Amino acid sequence: MLLRHTPTEVAKREALTINPAKTCQPVGAMYAALGIHGCLPHSHGSQGCCAYHRSALTRHYKEPIMAGTSSFTEGASVFGGQANLLQALNTIFTVYDPDIVAVHSTCLSETIGDDMAQIIRKAIDDGKVPEGKTVIYASTPSYVGSHVTGFANMVAGIARGFAYDTEEKNGRVNIIPGWVEPADMREIKRLCREIGAPTLLFPDTSDVLDAPQTGHHEMYPAGGTTREELVATGASMMTLALGKFASEAGAAELRRQCRVPFEVLDLPIGIRATDRFLLRLSELTGYQVPDSITKERGRAVDIVTDMQQYLSGKRVAIFGDPDQLIAMTEFLLDLDMRPVHVISGTPGKAFQTRIAEILGDNEAEVHNGQRADMFLLHQLIKNDHVDLLIGNTYGKYIARDEDIPFVRMGFPILDRVGHSYFPTVGYAGAMRLLEKILSALMDRQDRDAPEERFELVM
Ligand code: SF4
Repeated sequence: MLLRHTPTEVAKREALTINPAKTCQPVGAMYAALGIHGCLPHSHGSQGCCAYHRSALTRHYKEPIMAGTSSFTEGASVFGGQANLLQALNTIFTVYDPDIVAVHSTCLSETIGDDMAQIIRKAIDDGKVPEGKTVIYASTPSYVGSHVTGFANMVAGIARGFAYDTEEKNGRVNIIPGWVEPADMREIKRLCREIGAPTLLFPDTSDVLDAPQTGHHEMYPAGGTTREELVATGASMMTLALGKFASEAGAAELRRQCRVPFEVLDLPIGIRATDRFLLRLSELTGYQVPDSITKERGRAVDIVTDMQQYLSGKRVAIFGDPDQLIAMTEFLLDLDMRPVHVISGTPGKAFQTRIAEILGDNEAEVHNGQRADMFLLHQLIKNDHVDLLIGNTYGKYIARDEDIPFVRMGFPILDRVGHSYFPTVGYAGAMRLLEKILSALMDRQDRDAPEERFELVM
């Protein structure tokens, strides 16, 4: 009983978070920056912050995460971090030779009030940024928002740093995929290729954080959206932002800077959200969704139909990042399951509004923001038990204490593999999610079945 001190009675808390259901902004900024080809993320703060951000990503992706740090000590904390960042940029370009450095702030540099735009301008004026190299930045104070906010802020920073406005727009559609796995980004690109629609995905961590083992260390792996592609995002006719929380800020920045209109869609997780994404892409570009994709959809629907008796009416608690939860709540309802507790540590009123739209007449405890933590989730489950828990690795303590089948999904997953290699988006992703959910539920049925009801064929 690891969490035996969690009381059943829910007390109203104003100022205390216990086991937050989120992590800090720079983790997301670092992940977004890794989706640019030849880019080295840089943490403008203390070494401890950078070490934490890197280890959070390394543990989830099982890949070495490279990043620089401004290495603040007491002096920088008092006098500001300009000298540290100037020195860092000089060292990074001299020793590690990236094409791009993506600087994000931390709690400390934000509290000091460092003006990163001014420091980067000074670095350029002082000749510390070599010709043809670029430094972009994002403000990521961790005392607001979450890792998802940090991702969104860095995507906006990428758009601000590269997109070039032109009078002539082409027929291409930018796609901002949101904070999803490298495999999801690869799957979105595959679906676009199958349709034949001209698209440009950014950021793109496929072939960066799921790169094949070659026996050689690549400081800058082959994947990532290239500088030329990022410049060209300003010439696209439209941006589709997948997931409001992670992607809208970048799309809005592109519209502000380059007059590229945008639409926000839910992450294409589950059948209906995937339908909406593909149909909208088809409408925008004039390319039809091919039979090959329609057949994939049919296979996903077939699993739902075949296995309905194991899914119907099952009560589910789900926690994690808002964009994933929005899409998953809809998917669970489509499976005739009952999402009864929905928890996200990321703040934002839009979450409650969208989840309420999806739930309709279905009742659920929906909480997000600072006080929507793992402690509250555990209390809600104690009061109103569920058949299944879905969320990141931190859910394993609750699952163990309450003896609930557990499906790992989201960030971070620290104790299993597969999440970065197999997509959850699209119809293929729906099939993977179905397989994971059904396996968890049916394993439990097998475990608990008395001998006379222990079935070979299920
Ligand atoms: S001090 Fe702020 S930026 Fe640094 S690790 Fe902690 S929460 Fe993140």
